[in-house]
Amino acid sequence: MVMIQGCLSKFMKRTPDDLSLGERTVLGLVQSRRATSQIQIARHLGVSTVTVHNMIQRLLEQKILEQSVVSRGKRGRPLLHYRVCLPAPILAIQWLGTTWHGGGIHPDERKDFMIPWDTTDIPGQEHAIKIFSEKVGELLSGSGLRRKDVLGCVISINAARVRSSGKLSSSVMPWVPELQAKEVGKALGCRVWIFAVSMAAETELALRAREGVHSLCVLNVADGVSAHACVYSDAGSSIEAFSGEIGHIIVERDGLICGCGHRGCLETVLSGSALQRRAREDVERGIRTGLESVLQQTPKTFFDALERLHTERTDSYAVTLAEEFLERCAWALSVIYNIYDPDVVVLTGYGLAGRESWKKRLVALAPSKILHGEQTTLRLEYSRSDPREHLRRLAEMAALNQDTTPL
Ligand SMILES: [Zn+2]
Repeated sequence: MVMIQGCLSKFMKRTPDDLSLGERTVLGLVQSRRATSQIQIARHLGVSTVTVHNMIQRLLEQKILEQSVVSRGKRGRPLLHYRVCLPAPILAIQWLGTTWHGGGIHPDERKDFMIPWDTTDIPGQEHAIKIFSEKVGELLSGSGLRRKDVLGCVISINAARVRSSGKLSSSVMPWVPELQAKEVGKALGCRVWIFAVSMAAETELALRAREGVHSLCVLNVADGVSAHACVYSDAGSSIEAFSGEIGHIIVERDGLICGCGHRGCLETVLSGSALQRRAREDVERGIRTGLESVLQQTPKTFFDALERLHTERTDSYAVTLAEEFLERCAWALSVIYNIYDPDVVVLTGYGLAGRESWKKRLVALAPSKILHGEQTTLRLEYSRSDPREHLRRLAEMAALNQDTTPL
């Protein structure tokens, strides 16, 4: 509910005409993709479809909502879905760290496109603004748009917003609190929105709702380590979203300093940069390993090589490094199961996404660490969400926020 209210307060500020609370709730449901057809919305709100129909009509007339796709309902009847209307193209960048992507999101979705970018390290603030500038240029030329044709650029950063100060905070990019939308906007020559939203758990749960999945946790292992959980409540009409700070559980009292300021957090031993740095130091000390050739490559490439060498079992250093990594991932999983006991855990980030042999290993390693592990069947999966669809949702959030300055 916290998240819904957060979104609604933004809607209230931006809407051109006075919208009723019901209409704003409908907007929130549609934008989050929790409910996008009249029947789904009526079920969520516990009101009649006639009431929803009237609200939708008003939102369509004001061009705040538009029709999107038609799907088949339960009895084969066509089901009309809605989405937030984009008044003009919006550029969207999802900055996760060393792996990130951006796209041009158009009122006509057939023109949408996405470009993935991988980098070897995460730049500081000034360098970041320079890179954003380059990427915006790339997105504009890719879509054949001029700067004045776009409503602006929405940048979503892998960070959390501190409730007390309202500032962003990130252990992976400790300088993020200083990032100002206005300043970035000046450099980019267009309007900029900076968001720190993780819709991952909510999206993944919605994609599995029809399979009877009621609770889900996304474990992300990449430049940072995090866990986001989402649960459908018994009432069946609301979602509780809560983020985990799993990456900042201290595992080595005298370990390395973490971006959060503490020493020896899980993130300092599990993140891509941590593992790569460790391998680099060991090679400098004379260790021979097939990982040598990927020490200067992107963390994702490094992990690809690590998984391959671990499967081949011929490189003893790589096998040990991977086993230690998996032991710790299994421990992180046990924390998730002991706290949330989710129906499904979705593995994301270049550390775990799509790594089939490692997923099998985690299913074998984790039960002994979970208190009720022997009676639990672990259902580990990969992401089913479409990154382009995610960029569209960010663009819709920006469109709904166009009269506010989030930072
Ligand atoms: Zn930390």
